[in-house]
Amino acid sequence: MHRFPSRRAASLSATVLVSLVAAAPLSAQIPWQTVEPGFPRTAAERNGFTAHTRHLEMWDYLRTLRGATTEMRLGSYGQTREGRDLPYAIFSRPLVSEPWEAWELGRPIVVLSANVHGGERTFREGLLILMRDLATPGTEANALLDDVTVLVAPQINPDGFEASEGGQRGNAWGIDLNRDYVKLEHPSIAHLIENIVGAWRPHVFVDGHNGGSRPYNLNYQCPSHYDTMRALTLVCDEEIFPAIDAALAREGYRSWYYTRGNEEEWTVGGFEPRIGRNYVGFVNSIGILFEAPSQDPEHGARAGYLGYLTVLRYAAQNAQQVMDLVERARTETIAMGAEPRGEIAVRMEYAAEDYPVDYTIINGGRGGAPEDTVEVRGARLMKRPVATRLRPRPWAYILPRDAEDAVAMLLRHGITVERLDAPARLDVDAYTIAEVTYEQAYNHAAAVRIEVGEVRRLTADLLVGTYVVPTAQSLGRLVAHMLEPETDDNVIYWNTMDAWIPRPGGAPNGGGGPPLVPIYKLMSPAALQSSLVRGAP
Ligand SMILES: [Zn+2]
Repeated sequence: MHRFPSRRAASLSATVLVSLVAAAPLSAQIPWQTVEPGFPRTAAERNGFTAHTRHLEMWDYLRTLRGATTEMRLGSYGQTREGRDLPYAIFSRPLVSEPWEAWELGRPIVVLSANVHGGERTFREGLLILMRDLATPGTEANALLDDVTVLVAPQINPDGFEASEGGQRGNAWGIDLNRDYVKLEHPSIAHLIENIVGAWRPHVFVDGHNGGSRPYNLNYQCPSHYDTMRALTLVCDEEIFPAIDAALAREGYRSWYYTRGNEEEWTVGGFEPRIGRNYVGFVNSIGILFEAPSQDPEHGARAGYLGYLTVLRYAAQNAQQVMDLVERARTETIAMGAEPRGEIAVRMEYAAEDYPVDYTIINGGRGGAPEDTVEVRGARLMKRPVATRLRPRPWAYILPRDAEDAVAMLLRHGITVERLDAPARLDVDAYTIAEVTYEQAYNHAAAVRIEVGEVRRLTADLLVGTYVVPTAQSLGRLVAHMLEPETDDNVIYWNTMDAWIPRPGGAPNGGGGPPLVPIYKLMSPAALQSSLVRGAP
């Protein structure tokens, strides 16, 4: 592979730069754009970054901004649990309003978002300022609008933001919205997926948080699950992240992978599809996580601004490459299901990337103890996905005709689901259930973990109304992950098929033999009399 020298070089040059500027007072150095007459400043800018821009202050800012430019549309893609409007803005030249107009332009579509965790606000401030520059003629951001279509969703979780002075991670019910991307139970995320991600089909989606490790000013990570197309992650590792390193280094900032390291290895964030950046990979786009480690709020906002701007610059300068990559991910996904091939990683773990990395860690500091900055050389980067259990990809999954809850979850993603209009007798693969255990996960007290016994080939007599979910669709990777019973985020795990699952130690269903997983796998193409399910069943 060819990616490694640039990562080391970028890391070292950033080290040199940060040591040069560290001695200088930073607060006066931030080169925010001059604000043109008629254009607003955020509340945080006006108060010197002593307090964040609150939800209604943000709406005032966005409306004033909209009134100062002809190059922006402003709207709401839905409402939160507590009835707050979720804002989004569109920036492009010529200005578009609808997804199909954006597709006609033939340019990358990039979504920039922030604040899915209500207390994580630093990068949102930088994103609000970037919105002004996108709307201001003469700025670099505005010039990019000839080559890229930009959607901004600057506050995914305003209920969590407004829940207290410091905000809370979850929404008004305390639910972690960045674990809701598969279930789509909560309106803030369900609306985001339906009206922004599903409707616009962006090529790139950036999700801004607070977390990660000093001394870095920005931590990043792309999809890290085995079953997302590897090239969608490599484009981050090889091109986008080095570009961010360089852009931040020019202003004395440093960037590196989320989340933390020690003297031997750097550990990254989780790989579950329920997390936004991984979900974006499962729907065949480039999903980028930004995290703001603890730092001065204004410098943190600036680091986020530079990160978001760099992603836009990259997409504009490599427009065809970005679009081709995403198109290839979509067409390959459909092809993998049409003549079913390959395997699904139902279990995975991280291993070390096959190249050494250098980074900086800060030890100590707790309870007033002195901090110790350590330069680590030649360490392991633990983010390479390795499959530990694989299952063959079917042509379709088959669900009982009364599996409405599971099907509703599929439909919320825009997944194609069909129903049989005539009875069918088909040879299918079925899993036996060897063991059922329950575990606490996210907001579910008893998520269902199934241990599969064996795979049986059987002849199934399927009733009219039986659900058929083909894998030959652009969301086919998500289909496989949600309908294989052993994965981290499937419909059984999330309790939508509890009625079919035997209690631990309970009697087998249907008389003799071990119980079967109530999702069958049709392993090869079959002509079926079926029709599309539209909307909730
Ligand atoms: Zn977060």
